[in-house]
Amino acid sequence: MFVVMAVSATPQEVEAVESFIASEGLQAHVNRGAERVVIAVVGEVDGRRERLIGRLSTMPGVDTITPISRPFKLTSREFHPEDTVIRVGGAIIGDGSLTVMAGPCSVEGRDQLMEVARFVAANGATILRGGAFKPRTSPYTFQGLGVEALRYLQEAGRETGLPVITEVMEPGQVDIVALYADILQVGTRNMQNYSLLQAVGRAEKPVMLKRGYGATIEEWLMAAEYIVSAGNPDVIMCERGIRTFETYTRNTLDISAVPLLHHLTHLPVVVDPSHATGKRWLVKPLALAGVAAGADGIMVEVHPHPDEALSDGEQSLAPDGFRDLMAALTAVHQYVGGLYRDPALPASALRIGGDARKH
Ligand code: PEP
Ligand code: MN
Repeated sequence: MFVVMAVSATPQEVEAVESFIASEGLQAHVNRGAERVVIAVVGEVDGRRERLIGRLSTMPGVDTITPISRPFKLTSREFHPEDTVIRVGGAIIGDGSLTVMAGPCSVEGRDQLMEVARFVAANGATILRGGAFKPRTSPYTFQGLGVEALRYLQEAGRETGLPVITEVMEPGQVDIVALYADILQVGTRNMQNYSLLQAVGRAEKPVMLKRGYGATIEEWLMAAEYIVSAGNPDVIMCERGIRTFETYTRNTLDISAVPLLHHLTHLPVVVDPSHATGKRWLVKPLALAGVAAGADGIMVEVHPHPDEALSDGEQSLAPDGFRDLMAALTAVHQYVGGLYRDPALPASALRIGGDARKH
């Protein structure tokens, strides 16, 4: 349940509610919103529900008690009506600006990474991507340069001024990846690797959680809930396509996930049209569609010579393709931002399917 405090509630009244929840052996997660404080009561309530509601609703400063209708709690809009905005280095994700994560599928060497990094930085990218530890379907294909790649990523990030995102595949890698990278990526194959989710939840770096290729939106949000409940509030959701009966594309990009997530959660949402389609020429239209649907940004693969790439060359943009994409994407983002903006409502209003004041 959520304890919604009155607008006039004092810090002492909030504290008293927190103490009462703790005295019941439950956890109180507090969201201090712009307008009011909401406290999520997390834990096994069992047969105590009526008694707890009775007691909490009479405590000073409490406005209402709302039952939680969804299994995800800390990631839900009800708990946290304002959009989560993540600041990492000079980049801001989720504030209405356009986030562009770009770079090679795999870091193949220092020169290759530097070349792409300089190019994407000069052409509108806000975050540099590159795989160091690669989850490959075949054990016989390139598995990534590991720690060597992390060093190149850090160097490229420093030189270009871009924060760096890279994938972490197992709990034992979290510390080393967090040492070099600014954002930890959990890949589609690991979305339900709960020990990894808990480990990145304890890390002090933002996490980008890709949607499992066979996961429902609720399962995906529950995976995000693992990270947030472990103590890390900075989670970015990445729709990267799901597996369907369609074979022309590598996956099927679920565009409806974008507005749905904005409705259900306060976390930022990006789309990855590269892994979603597997085809270079489909990257631009689907990136545009994602941003038109309200995505906070995109993740896209770029390679100086895609035909020679050690992984995912067929879906990687060449430099001129990235430049072309950025011109169109910037125009769509400006147009869409203007359409959604309503000065009378908080920024999150467009995200929750209508009038934010109802929530
Ligand atoms: C990637 O972004 O490098 C990647 C492997 O993506 P996914 O987990 O979506 O397949
Ligand atoms: Mn890839």
